[in-house]
Amino acid sequence: MAISTPLEIYQFPCLSDNYGYLVHDSANNLTATIDTPEVAPINAALAAKGWSLTHIMNTHHHYDHAGGNIELKEQWGCTIVGSKSDAKRIPGIDVEVADGGTYDFGGHTAKVFDVSGHTQGHIAFYFEQDAILFSGDALFALGCGRLFEGTPAQMWESLQKLLVLPDDTTVYCAHEYTQANARFAISVEPQNTQLQARVTEINALRAANKPTVPSILGVEKATNPFLRPMSTDLQSTVGMVGADLVDVFAKTRTLKDNF
Ligand code: ZN
Ligand code: FE
Repeated sequence: MAISTPLEIYQFPCLSDNYGYLVHDSANNLTATIDTPEVAPINAALAAKGWSLTHIMNTHHHYDHAGGNIELKEQWGCTIVGSKSDAKRIPGIDVEVADGGTYDFGGHTAKVFDVSGHTQGHIAFYFEQDAILFSGDALFALGCGRLFEGTPAQMWESLQKLLVLPDDTTVYCAHEYTQANARFAISVEPQNTQLQARVTEINALRAANKPTVPSILGVEKATNPFLRPMSTDLQSTVGMVGADLVDVFAKTRTLKDNF
């Protein structure tokens, strides 16, 4: 397989607040959709770019992520890549990948991380050479997924796998939840000047009806409360100075759920 060109990412809205992503490898003429939130916009995006769908890469089984799998597979005959530990809930799955594993996409290696917590078997795809992370509903801009199936300890363990990736990683998450996340983030870390600046930036983007996604991992590390249980300011706001990081994380998640 030829490899020389960087991956091209095409981002578009789906449903009420999801993002669809096409990932294109021009050297081998491969195109993946990250999740299948909604068939019509995915097909419209493919038509707009003149690309043919060869792969579906699923982060988790929820309907707004895998609901279009079967229809797209029937239409395109594409290969569906998903979580081995959640294979039973990924419609049409062909290739099962697991934590620490890789998937070769035209010579671009996607590293797979199990980032369970939102669901069991939720995975993230990390294209190291391209410095791109598809985080699904595990890590959002200024937020993290609700813990529908996992414990805080499991989610914190999952997020730590992303926390060690390089600061210049571009993070493509699955939802435009950033403005609501920002309101919560600033409430638990009001002294964080980088967060203050980011909130201003996010409000301006949303006022102009522009996406706040993707974001940069280094900025998430500096401003996302769910990556910052070690922040003494955050610990102080939530009343848990010196507590175990997993307990601070759990408290932060509970506060967000009730915010
Ligand atoms: Zn979900
Ligand atoms: Fe979702």
